[in-house]
Amino acid sequence: MSHHSSRFAPLALALSAALLLSACSNSEAPAPGADASAEAPAAAAPLVIYSERKAPLLDPILADFTAQTGIAIETRIDGADALIERLAAEGASTPADLLITVDAGNLWQAAERGLLAGVTSPSLDANVPANLRDAQGRWYGVSERARTIMFAKDRVDPSTLSTYEALAEPQWKGKVCLRSSAKVYNQSLVATMIERLGAERTEAVLKGWVDNLAAPPFADDTLLLQAIAAGQCEVGISNTYYLGRLQKEDPAFAVLPFWPNHADAGVHINISGAGVLANSDQPEQAKQLLEWLVSEPVQAKFAGLNFEYPVKPGVPLDPIVEAWGEFKADPVDIAVAGRRQAEAVMLMGKAGWR
Ligand code: FE
Repeated sequence: MSHHSSRFAPLALALSAALLLSACSNSEAPAPGADASAEAPAAAAPLVIYSERKAPLLDPILADFTAQTGIAIETRIDGADALIERLAAEGASTPADLLITVDAGNLWQAAERGLLAGVTSPSLDANVPANLRDAQGRWYGVSERARTIMFAKDRVDPSTLSTYEALAEPQWKGKVCLRSSAKVYNQSLVATMIERLGAERTEAVLKGWVDNLAAPPFADDTLLLQAIAAGQCEVGISNTYYLGRLQKEDPAFAVLPFWPNHADAGVHINISGAGVLANSDQPEQAKQLLEWLVSEPVQAKFAGLNFEYPVKPGVPLDPIVEAWGEFKADPVDIAVAGRRQAEAVMLMGKAGWR
């Protein structure tokens, strides 16, 4: 018996610690003098997610998690910059447990500012390729997004396309559309180009792109794709899921993706990703959610909801996504998007990319 009681002692300790914790988190609720013994046992506090990923692309997934685990979730949706500032200001008193962004550069910034906890997890390491997660476990890709060349399918012969860099050639004068350089997706693309081509060559390419513009840079990728379809430009650079949304509405939408740089680096890949917050009061549950998000059945639904690619290899694609065909993904460590972000912004400015 003594063997058993010693074996169970840690569990008993953990249970009383949990009771103490729920008593503490509950203590602000009752008014002074309230009869605490009359209260129902406190449920676990909800897991709080600060998310840049929009509610319709997250809520159906989180509802599944709550149904399976009983863990309630609250989300606060805002831009990554605003969420990061808020986390920094809240410090130890933040209610947040997990940060979700739609770009690696922002996760890198959050990690640099000490906002994310390093997580060790064999299943995260197994399911998320090493180039799509932080080496210290502070953030992990949850879905993969390809930022590629888009072309007007009735007006452009895809055999005239080859690389991102080639869009700077004179043959594309007055035919290129770009999104604003203020968008972090473009900053991350340029950051990986600097890593691959060097600053001098990248600057020359960016200047060529700007010289070739058919219209001032667009505020978002959807407008850019619509401009290609409408004949305002012939080619552009966009994340593929924006095309997926447009093709879902109109299967005849006259734009297709081209997979560039297959002879060298491959297609630029970014992530929607997440990290457990350093000031989370429920880091184990936050990690559990993160592990669940990159598990097999969840990956297909998470990526499919937004016509993205799963990070976990071998997971089935949405049929719209599958129809775009296979491509070589740039294997670069996506942390480069953060490390070279400032340099990318500077080069974009020098090239006159608004
Ligand atoms: Fe987006």
